[in-house]
Amino acid sequence: MLSVVVPLYNEEENIPQLVTSIQEALVECPQWELVLVDDGSSDDTARVAAGIACTDARVRLVRLARNYGQTKAMQAGFDHARGEVVVTMDGDLQNDPADIPRLLAKLDEGYDLVAGYRLRRQDKLLTRKVPSWIANRLIAWMTGVRIRDNGCSLKAYRRSLISQLHLYSDMHRFLPALAAATAAARIVEIPVQHHARRFGRSKYGLSRVAKILADLMTITMITSFRERPLGLFGTAAAGSVAAGAVVLYLWLRSLALYRVEPEGAYVLPAVVLLLVALAVYLVMLGLVAEVTVRSATQEEQDTMRRPLRGLAS
Ligand code: UDP
Ligand code: MG
Repeated sequence: MLSVVVPLYNEEENIPQLVTSIQEALVECPQWELVLVDDGSSDDTARVAAGIACTDARVRLVRLARNYGQTKAMQAGFDHARGEVVVTMDGDLQNDPADIPRLLAKLDEGYDLVAGYRLRRQDKLLTRKVPSWIANRLIAWMTGVRIRDNGCSLKAYRRSLISQLHLYSDMHRFLPALAAATAAARIVEIPVQHHARRFGRSKYGLSRVAKILADLMTITMITSFRERPLGLFGTAAAGSVAAGAVVLYLWLRSLALYRVEPEGAYVLPAVVLLLVALAVYLVMLGLVAEVTVRSATQEEQDTMRRPLRGLAS
């Protein structure tokens, strides 16, 4: 069975066409369901979606009590999806349901995640495409997972992969990186269509940039230092000690040359002390992080590390 999950926030005008396109795209699919997630819309989204759910038993509506954001809405959809395969897409008709069969065919070749990339993206250049281009490069560089278009919602997943991931903040954009790092997933990309928005408005502006940068740091922590946080904090502490050593040398030199001016007498030794204290603090923080990681239940760590292949079979 296939589950299509679509988060909706104030998309009332798009829903009828969206559902029709999905129904048309899936005529050859023997068994499917459509999980519409109303993310606390303030327009008629919930009413329109509920109306359609009444006429087609394959369409289900999940309503969130308030606006939680696209990532949480997607997670709610995952929690309610019953299919072995889950496809996600935007509800604003920017993604094209006609691409779903191609995603499924690719998944059948033995992948855990098929990510679409928008071949001719129909969005504004300066505020959307350029930041997105930079973000994709950054994500690839920091996580080591090379995905051309992390922001494209049109993706297909195996259930076994979905159930190992827990999404929060704006992390739906980092799903491939998270999947590769924590679940050893096999990932592939295929080009998909992209249309300009006809009804409603985009829910994001440039404000997403800060959020994505913060999430990127969290993801890097999860993907690279999950096992050994002391490595990260230790490296930072070493940097601090190195800087301290340089200042110490400057101080001793100024003493040796009898040029003891106020900055030499007070400022330099104070800076050395500060840098050394910072290093000690960082190491202690690293140790605390180590303890936290270790005490995370062994069971959870086991499921996170179990290779997907085994689960899928
Ligand atoms: N969305 C949501 N909750 C939000 C913001 C957006 O469920 O708080 C949904 C929105 O209805 C759409 C999808 O997420 O189906 C993508 O949003 P949008 O089209 O605004 O993003 P863009 O295409 O501009 O990146
Ligand atoms: Mg959109």
